[in-house]
Amino acid sequence: MWENTEVNLHTHTPLCHHAVSTIPEFCRAAAEGGFKVLGFSDHAPHPDDRVFGYHMLKTELPAYGRMLDEASEIFPGLVILRGLELDFRPDMIRYLEFKEELHLDYLLGSAHRVFCGDREVFFIEKSIFDEKVMLAFFEADLAMLRSGVVDMIAHPDAAASRYPGKFTDAMVRLTREMAREAKARDIPLEINVNGTGGICADPGRWRYPWEPFWEIVAEEDAPVVIGIDAHAAAHLVSSRLQPVWNFAERLGIRVQNAAVAEKLISRRPSK
Ligand SMILES: [Zn+2]
Ligand SMILES: [Zn+2]
Repeated sequence: MWENTEVNLHTHTPLCHHAVSTIPEFCRAAAEGGFKVLGFSDHAPHPDDRVFGYHMLKTELPAYGRMLDEASEIFPGLVILRGLELDFRPDMIRYLEFKEELHLDYLLGSAHRVFCGDREVFFIEKSIFDEKVMLAFFEADLAMLRSGVVDMIAHPDAAASRYPGKFTDAMVRLTREMAREAKARDIPLEINVNGTGGICADPGRWRYPWEPFWEIVAEEDAPVVIGIDAHAAAHLVSSRLQPVWNFAERLGIRVQNAAVAEKLISRRPSK
């Protein structure tokens, strides 16, 4: 139906306080850039409405839903999918109320913050991560895959941004477990374009995608989507995209953007 490159399922809005383009601006850039499907997946509220500063509040959910409704009317040539990006928490199930309230098509799970011992670690904080922290992020990704709540896992390798060490045996094991779980449940793992910018703790490579991680995903033939994680309209038509598509092709990764969009649309209740 569509080409994989015509589908992006990871787009933000100004409600998260760190995206700079409006929904109509993203839609216009997408249409001009040749996209056929644009999925919005802005950062979800905390279920208890705690404030971390990079997401909308519960009271803003109705406005988010209305803006997505309006965009579908203004841009009939673009299929607009409705999603939210969720932070990892042990009780992911609490997010399902948001899905129901806004008639969402999908939920994107992201391990942005995890507990390692008694410390809460943020995936882009300044400190350098050791193996233990990396494994805590991978465990969170696995827990989200098994939660039955999320439809995709965003940037499962994002903690590699702060990790200058080797891909250890324990990481290989957890990555393989994750890839097998993703394949068995048909939940795609996302190669995230956003990580190709910025400074990595391990100079000389992208922050993410992290190649040794995706080599295992390719070996296990897990389903994958490439997500732009657009925080500005210009990100949808950026020169950063092609190298990531090339990366996936070189590794022999099974990219599923178009098939995933079709599946999400087929799940919509018929009117
Ligand atoms: Zn963001
Ligand atoms: Zn995102």
